[in-house]
Amino acid sequence: ALGTLIHARNLEDERSRMERVLRFNAEHDFLTRLPNRSHFFTQANALFERFQRHPAEGDACCLALVDIDFFKQINDAHGHLAGDEVLRELARLLMQAVRDDDLVARFGGEEFIMLLRGAPLEDARHIMERIRLQIEHHPFQHQGQGIVVTISVGLTPYQPSYHCMDDWLQCVDQRLYEAKRLGRNRIS
Ligand code: GH3
Ligand code: MG
Ligand code: MG
Repeated sequence: ALGTLIHARNLEDERSRMERVLRFNAEHDFLTRLPNRSHFFTQANALFERFQRHPAEGDACCLALVDIDFFKQINDAHGHLAGDEVLRELARLLMQAVRDDDLVARFGGEEFIMLLRGAPLEDARHIMERIRLQIEHHPFQHQGQGIVVTISVGLTPYQPSYHCMDDWLQCVDQRLYEAKRLGRNRIS
């Protein structure tokens, strides 16, 4: 009887372990291990609703959309695997660069999104500028070859006039487009 009990306990442990794995995989990007787009929206929407109730908290928050410059050329020059390595390394740098209650996620291909909390626009600009410089000077490598990586960043503070996350996202997307248009490797 004791054996059966232990067996049942082991099955139960195994089941909850599997559930945690499945849940993690559903919420995270396989390549970079960062939260994925859908998980980002779940968390960001919840924060957004809080900001609507307490605008002062939102006032000190910024959204940053990060896009690697000429990433297609990196793939073409060094191969897709090198591109994957750059994405993983960049994800690690972004994650290390932010505070615990900030959100960082892989938004899509070579785009990352960050929600910086407790950082009004000027602070957020400094944070993102530091990250931009760090990446520009980071020794990315593939098979002994150095790869120079730069990013463009759209940055926008929360505004109480936004009706939903999508409004905020549209603004930050325009900013990113501007950063690209003005020559890349910059924050707009
Ligand atoms: P821009 O400076 O205008 O952003 O140019 P770009 O080349 O970075 O932008 P574009 O959208 O033309 O190309 C993005 C490339 O990213 C194309 C696609 O093959 C590559 N990509 C997307 N996801 C992955 C991935 O998971 N791994 C690798 N290696 N490449 C990816
Ligand atoms: Mg892109
Ligand atoms: Mg790009």
